[in-house]
Amino acid sequence: MECPYCKGTMRYGVIQSPHEINWKPKKARLFGAAIFHKEAIVLSEFSFTGGSSVEAYCCDKCKKIIIDYGNIITGKDDL
Ligand SMILES: [Zn+2]
Repeated sequence: MECPYCKGTMRYGVIQSPHEINWKPKKARLFGAAIFHKEAIVLSEFSFTGGSSVEAYCCDKCKKIIIDYGNIITGKDDL
């Protein structure tokens, strides 16, 4: 993927978590799960067996990470 800032090549990778990975308009005080927050976007649902992971591209020069939330992977096949 081409970086939209510097036009350099971005590195492919994943962001993993033992919890649901989501985006919210602001930081939650107690419950971080998307179900408790209007406007939240689930990037990867929680899985008891495989954790959560989402594909992402990294630009080391600009220090930016880009996540396409239309293409979710769950990590279930990694066991
Ligand atoms: Zn860049």
